[in-house]
This record gives sequence, C-alpha cells and structure tokens, in this order.
Amino acid sequence: MSHILPVYAKSKFSFERGEGVYLYDKDGKKYLDFAAGIGVNSMGHCHPHLVKALQNQAAKLWHVSNMYSIQGYEELAERITKATKFAHYMFLCNSGAEAVECGMKAVRKYHDETGNPHKFRIITFEGAFHGRTLGCISAAKKGKLIKGFEPAADGFDQVEFGNLDAVKKAITPETGGILIEPVQGEGGIRPSSEEFLKGLRKICDENNLLLMFDGVQCGMGRTGKFFSHEWAGVYPDIVSSAKGIGSGFPIGACLMTKKVGDTMTPGSHGSTYAGNPLAISVASAVMDIMLAPGFLDNVVTMGNYLTGKLNDLIKKYPNLLVEVRGKGLMIGIKTNPEAVKEVKDFVDGLRSAGLLTAPAADNVIRFLPPLIITKEHCDEAISLLEKYLESYKV
Ligand code: PLP
Repeated sequence: MSHILPVYAKSKFSFERGEGVYLYDKDGKKYLDFAAGIGVNSMGHCHPHLVKALQNQAAKLWHVSNMYSIQGYEELAERITKATKFAHYMFLCNSGAEAVECGMKAVRKYHDETGNPHKFRIITFEGAFHGRTLGCISAAKKGKLIKGFEPAADGFDQVEFGNLDAVKKAITPETGGILIEPVQGEGGIRPSSEEFLKGLRKICDENNLLLMFDGVQCGMGRTGKFFSHEWAGVYPDIVSSAKGIGSGFPIGACLMTKKVGDTMTPGSHGSTYAGNPLAISVASAVMDIMLAPGFLDNVVTMGNYLTGKLNDLIKKYPNLLVEVRGKGLMIGIKTNPEAVKEVKDFVDGLRSAGLLTAPAADNVIRFLPPLIITKEHCDEAISLLEKYLESYKV
C-alpha cells in the first residue's frame, strides 16, 4: 500500500541514473530521453559543468535568507534580463507555478500602484496550462484541473486561443492584463501565430493592459530562441520561466520590465528559497552553456532535422500519424484518434520500446528532448518510433 499521495497514475518505469540524453533503469536498460522531465533537463542528465557547479556550491553554502544579499544573484539577474531583451528585473522562485503567480500578482500590483486598482482581471486562453496553484488552475479553467477545487479564484476571463476578436470583446474596464503561453504545451503543442502575438501587444498598448507570456515550457531555449516570443519580435511586460533554467534543479523565475517591477515594492512578494545559492549556481552554469554563441542555432537545426524526419514518418504511416507541429525542439505529433484511442497508452508502449516522450491534449505525443541532442540522437529516436509504429499497425 503506497504512502505517496495518489495524485499521479502509477508507472512501471523507474530510473536509477541519467547521462546526457539517456536514462538507465536498475537493470541497466537504456532509454533515449526525448521527454526530458517534460521539457526540464535542457542540458540533459548530469551535465558535467552543472554537476561541478552544484558540487562546488554544495560544499560552500546551501541556504541563506533574502534578509541578506545573496552572492551571485545580481550577476545572474543581470545576465538573464539582458538576454531577454525586454526585462529589467528578475525574481527567482522554485517552480513554474510560482513564477506565474508572481507575474499575475505583478499585473494587479502595477495597476494598483498606478491608480487603477479596479483593473485586476486577466484574460486567459482555452487549452492553457499554467500550473497547479489555486490561482493557476483558476487562470487555466480546464475541467480536470479545476474539478473538485471550485469555486475558482475570481479575476480570470477565458477566451478562444488565437482569436483576437474574442480578446477584444472580453475587455472590460476591470481588465488589467493578458496571460498566454506563446506555444501551448500541455494543450497539445499549439503555437500562436506571429500576427496573433502582435495583435495582443497592440491591444495591450491601446487599453493600458500588461502582456504576460508564460514561458515555463516554451522558454529557455526550447524553441531555438531564448524565449519563443522573439520569433514574432513581440516583447511582453512580464514572463514566467522555469523548467529549462535549472535543467532539473527546481528553479522558477519571473522577469519583468522596469515599469512593472518598480511597483513590486519591498515586502510585497517573496519566498523563503527565492534566490537559493544552490539554484543560483546551477542556473548560472546553465546560462554558461545556453547563452554561448551557436547553442540556440543548434536547437533550430536539430528541430528542423527532427521535424523533417517526423514528417517523413507521417507520409509512411498516415493512418496513425496526422500532423507535426511546434517550433525548435518543442514538437508535437498529432496521432489519429481513430487508430490511437489513448495517447497515454501509445506513449507507454514507446517507453517499453526504449523511447521516452510525453502525452499532451488533442491526442498529441510531445517530443521535448534535451537541447544538447545531435543528429544521431534524432536518428535513433526516429528508428525507435518507426519500429514501434510497425508493431502498432498489426
Ligand atoms: N506553465 C506552463 C506553460 C507549464 O507547462 C507548466 C508545467 O508544466 C507550469 C506553468 C507549471 O510549472 P510547475 O509544474 O513547475 O509549477
């Protein structure tokens, strides 16, 4: 009888160690990890540069309170905000949901401090996922997330993803901001169009609204830009980040412009572990690699290569696979719901075959490999997938 709170389905897969793009179970069986902890292990498993940084820090200092000035925090904040090309401030936290909460609070605080305390509502989108806190599930409003936890927190108005008219219609004098994942992850790898993101920016500028992007899954190099909205040349007021920033160490970050951040006054927000020295050492080591020249270009190259190969498989297995979508190394393959009744079972079968992927809504299999993959890893994944598709057909 398990003593673990039963909020996750039980899995027969369990891993003992990881190295690069591979995980190993206790019997030494090797798995090609193209799920990367659901887009978390940006630098793969146990990257030597990250291991060294964490070990060095672990021998020096683990935790000090934000009552003190934390070494390395200022340098990391400067590096990351510069790389975003829009943010002036960074707040470190411990997870994606916390980063989203910080951003949603900043929307309210900004309007409160600028004489518009009534502008507290945030427009969100169908299919969204922002995390599991009460605020985040209220923002996403998805059936299975909110069911049993109602009433939802007030202040969120949800509209159709990609529909600018619906956004315009939803604006009231109480609207303070818009929150969107530029590429929906859990929702089934659904990228926003450039026009849509540009349209949202324009709407925000015309209506004194703050634009917040949830970059927890699609940010930190995942699409081949530091943050995915850079593809559209659209810059938000606030971005939430997590996952890839720590490559497996639990870190979240909320980034915002000077205008917004200046209203987050001392005492208005915080978290015991925010800016933890261990987290700072790991995030700095991740940045050493991610921000090095050419790193993100390789993500684009690998993304194009893998997408091309997956499109070839679609032509070969049109009864099973319908469409490839996404950007960079955030790739979704939509399966045919007639043939693949439960995408979770399909993903489970692939796991047994040695390839780790993640399911998403809309019958989609997600490929979110470490950002350090090579063509050889892509070829191996395609070969494992193809073998599985052959066996699935019969
Ligand atoms: N936002 C997005 C877009 C996510 O994909 C996730 C997690 O999958 C979150 C927020 C929540 O992150 P966390 O689980 O670290 O709280």
